[in-house]
Amino acid sequence: MAPHPRLTTAAPGAPTATAPAAPAVRVGGLTRVFDDRAVLDAVDLDIAPGEFVALLGHSGSGKSTLLRAVARLDHDAGGTGTVDVPERRAVVFQDARLLPWARTLDNVTLGLGGGRAERRRLGREALAEVGLAAKENSWPATLSGGEAQRAALARALVREPALLLLDEPFGALDALTRIRMHVLLRRLCERHRPAVLLVTHDVDEALLLADRVLVLTRGRFSLDLTIDRTLDPATDRDSPAFRRLRARLLAELGVHPGADGDEEHAGVRE
Ligand code: ADP
Ligand code: MG
Repeated sequence: MAPHPRLTTAAPGAPTATAPAAPAVRVGGLTRVFDDRAVLDAVDLDIAPGEFVALLGHSGSGKSTLLRAVARLDHDAGGTGTVDVPERRAVVFQDARLLPWARTLDNVTLGLGGGRAERRRLGREALAEVGLAAKENSWPATLSGGEAQRAALARALVREPALLLLDEPFGALDALTRIRMHVLLRRLCERHRPAVLLVTHDVDEALLLADRVLVLTRGRFSLDLTIDRTLDPATDRDSPAFRRLRARLLAELGVHPGADGDEEHAGVRE
């Protein structure tokens, strides 16, 4: 990663005590144009180490385009701007993308360095963390949707990523499984502390998980909201503070709760 500009004048390896930590992600002036439309229009984004950022926006607003750029998966895309990201990064998509001919443990460890015994030890550890220890020898086709996404999370975590990128990872799961996955993801992130960029169209999911919520509108961030993490979503979900945040995000997305004010599980329709 390129050095943080504010640290470049300091002696190498000796940043001053007051210097802020270099961001894990630094995106500068990122522009992506498809069919003459600027899907991303000079976007700037810093994510601090260990910070959890959720990205909301309507379908087609450019969320996945931004995530793919940050993941460096868009080599073929034209455009301008800079993307500084850690080498150790992992991506989880809506579909688990497990190889059907490899057992769950082999899917998790695929491409890992080190000896076979060590790889399997790390893979088992990761599977245990996501509650899937009993499935290490299962074929992907026999896993439920939630189990497959757990395996995908284990495959991401076993790499100890400094940056975890998630593109609507729970979008295809039923509501109950999604709630379990939120709890799991929160716990995993608290333990491993990667920087996270989570793309979602679920306002409650963003509020539940993120330190900061961004809304992407017409190629720019139209809102950058810091979430008070002393709020506990488990108990404060219906608190006035939470309701205010939810209403603010929904308004930004142009979604207005029904006349009865019930915005339960409101989100942006795809
Ligand atoms: P989101 O993830 O917010 O739903 P995307 O980032 O996938 O939106 O897409 C944003 C817009 O860019 C859409 O209109 C989509 O059709 C367009 N787009 C994305 N990738 C490409 C591409 N490789 N070629 C042409 N158009 C693209
Ligand atoms: Mg998308």
